[in-house]
Amino acid sequence: MTSLKSKPLLRVEGLTKTYLSGQWWEKRVAVNALDRVNLTLEPGETLALVGKSGSGKTTLAMCVAMLEKPDSGKIFFDGQDVLALQTSKRTLLRPRIQLIFQDSAAALPARFSAAQIIEEPLAIRRRCSAKERSHLALDLMEKVGLPPGWANRRPHQFSGGERQRLAIARSLALLPSLLILDEPFTGLDLSIRAQIVNLLLALQADLSLTFLYISHDLDLIQHFSDHVAVMDRGRIVEHASVADLFRDPQHVATQALLACGSAYSHG
Ligand code: ADP
Ligand code: MG
Repeated sequence: MTSLKSKPLLRVEGLTKTYLSGQWWEKRVAVNALDRVNLTLEPGETLALVGKSGSGKTTLAMCVAMLEKPDSGKIFFDGQDVLALQTSKRTLLRPRIQLIFQDSAAALPARFSAAQIIEEPLAIRRRCSAKERSHLALDLMEKVGLPPGWANRRPHQFSGGERQRLAIARSLALLPSLLILDEPFTGLDLSIRAQIVNLLLALQADLSLTFLYISHDLDLIQHFSDHVAVMDRGRIVEHASVADLFRDPQHVATQALLACGSAYSHG
């Protein structure tokens, strides 16, 4: 039977990743950071990933971004079996998935100007001429709400929120389809947070981006997401629309998160 449904951008099947905890002199215990995780993201949607600290959210983000290799399972990105691809083909696919995390802004190279920071991923991949790169950098600065006149400023001359905008501009330089946002607003003031959320929503509409949004902030999740997946000890225990999840949480882990008033609890 043919389906009119669009093809998922990302499909994760049975993803498993085990770490050995502790140092070599300690008794080492296997931690199932990911335990047979299944997940689907449609193009253009925002899926929130919630769960207490240590439940495996960042590990899932790292595996999807091809920065960590799972022990088993499959990742299909835009219909391609990522883990089965030749290294050269996987390298071509990698820029289409960008990861923005809490420390992205702090991790910008201090000795580079804003323009150089945005251009660097393009320069490394030799995507276009120096002149085209510098045009694109100015365009991207404008897109993320930074005055292009600040192109020569270095990171320490920007505020925290402005640096996060710069990190976003840099992540957009390689024209990603999927942005993984791993607690990207932690440490930002509420008003700045709201501005960056609005920026991301505008960019999503403008550039047809798909978001995997890892967060503890239930208010933002309701505002920002279409679906929510709840992780608990390496497993996805509930996956529902935002409306259903908040109205009628099924799993005890979800109920616990909602009862805290925040999806954050010390795990
Ligand atoms: P979350 O992002 O939900 O807080 P993580 O994915 O960071 O969770 O971690 C899941 C589990 O895997 C935790 O028990 C964590 O200690 C463990 N873990 C994560 N990365 C490593 C690593 N590189 N080495 C050993 N254990 C790790
Ligand atoms: Mg994490």
